[in-house]
Amino acid sequence: MTELVSYEPATGAELWRGTTSDVDAAVAAARAAWPNWAAAPLSDRIAIVRSFGNRVKADLEIFADCIARETGKPLWEARNEVESVVNKVDISVKAYADRTSQRRFDGKPGTRNAVRHKPHGVLAVLGPYNFPAHLPNGHIVPALIAGNAIVFKPSEKTPAVGEMLVEYFRKAGIPDGVVNIVQGGPDTGKALSGHPGLDGLLFTGSAQTGIALNRQFASRPDKILALEMGGNNPVIVWDTHDMHSAAVLVVQSAFLSAGQRCTAARRLIIKQSLYDQFIPELKRLVDRLVIDEPHAEVPPFMGPVIDNEAADGLTESFLALMSHGGRPIRHMTRPRPGRPFLSPGIIDVTDMRERPDIELFGPLLQVVRVATFGEAIDEANNTRFGLSASLIGGTPEQYNEFWANSRAGVVNWNQPTNGASSAAPFGGVGLSGNHRPSAYYAADYCAFPVVSSEADVPRAMIGIGLRDDMVAFSDDSAVESAK
Ligand code: NAD
Repeated sequence: MTELVSYEPATGAELWRGTTSDVDAAVAAARAAWPNWAAAPLSDRIAIVRSFGNRVKADLEIFADCIARETGKPLWEARNEVESVVNKVDISVKAYADRTSQRRFDGKPGTRNAVRHKPHGVLAVLGPYNFPAHLPNGHIVPALIAGNAIVFKPSEKTPAVGEMLVEYFRKAGIPDGVVNIVQGGPDTGKALSGHPGLDGLLFTGSAQTGIALNRQFASRPDKILALEMGGNNPVIVWDTHDMHSAAVLVVQSAFLSAGQRCTAARRLIIKQSLYDQFIPELKRLVDRLVIDEPHAEVPPFMGPVIDNEAADGLTESFLALMSHGGRPIRHMTRPRPGRPFLSPGIIDVTDMRERPDIELFGPLLQVVRVATFGEAIDEANNTRFGLSASLIGGTPEQYNEFWANSRAGVVNWNQPTNGASSAAPFGGVGLSGNHRPSAYYAADYCAFPVVSSEADVPRAMIGIGLRDDMVAFSDDSAVESAK
């Protein structure tokens, strides 16, 4: 066992200390518990999950405080995250009924057909650090309703939030072994994902890890694997009379949560003729953003990124873009030495010969100028990812064209790239996911359909291709006499 410590990014204060967990013990506990949980009436499972939601709701401030401290996100945003955790319960109950409920329909005369769903068994859930409660919970709640047992590994950067989330299930009376937590980093993740006792794995995190998991599961088609990964998301700004609103939507898309959202806009694609008007408007707005500690008296727009390593990586990426031909519009700086606060960086990469198609997970926006709307769409699709994309401005016809040609799972008009509704399916194409969308469609990967054709009595006959009794008898006697 290795020691694991979590520090508050905004202050450096120690928040949580523990050790890495025994994966074998957690999987064994889940395997022992899941048959009874799967056999329990659906109404019992829903009652426990509802009780979990009520406990989280009652503790909103305490839980939000923990999320804000451990991630560095503003307290108002952490509160929103807790509300999403609570809302997930009702959404998942509805989604289970909608997507995976029982269905019966007539079959051949005297028979009927049934479609029912069964849980997979023991599912691992691997969570990211940016929404350390809401996103793992988005797998856990639907999986529990469907009758699975869970082994959850939170990000090693947010163990305290992970522990608190699981504690609410315990307080809600979840039977022992149904929800288990293992703490640790990638090595613990690997031990869990490779464990023979799993029936599947539900993952939210980076494309890099998702690809490694996909490779690991390639020879195991018997196990369900749901991958929710990152993006290199475009936002197009086209003709609009409201430049200020367009700038607000770009700022929300690119810099909410300090850019640490999978749906954050990484690339601003702008009509060349609007550039000189729009970019100063965008800069003015970014200059006004309050960047501070989560609990600061003046509520900040954004806090720090998760740790110094991430902040260093982002400032280095900004310099790398510059050294390869990017033209800085607004430098990315570290306003507080030693802490991972970043000022948003904006860089014009139009003249770079080769732009890296990677997810830079922080407040860093790359700008590309284009002359025609067709070029804008081509540029938006110029990525291996395909999570979210927005058009700001333009005509209804242009939006139709953008919608029809965008390769992404979330395609918006005059809305930010982020902030997708939990009541809708959520997922991407390309390197953003493996076609198992989460949120409302999580119900689909938490259970498998069993189709039954049923009759009350075994009445049957073979109509075609059967010899009559006499022929069959004479053939048998021919065989006998040949012996
Ligand atoms: P990450 O991939 O580094 O880690 C995610 C989880 O996987 C962690 O629990 C980690 O310990 C574990 N892990 C890492 N390497 C592993 C391995 N080789 N085998 C098994 N487990 C391993 O992701 P992160 O940095 O914590 O989160 C940020 C990323 O998550 C971004 O790329 C972001 O876009 C993505 N994300 C996606 C969504 C979505 O719904 N599509 C939502 C939020 C975040």
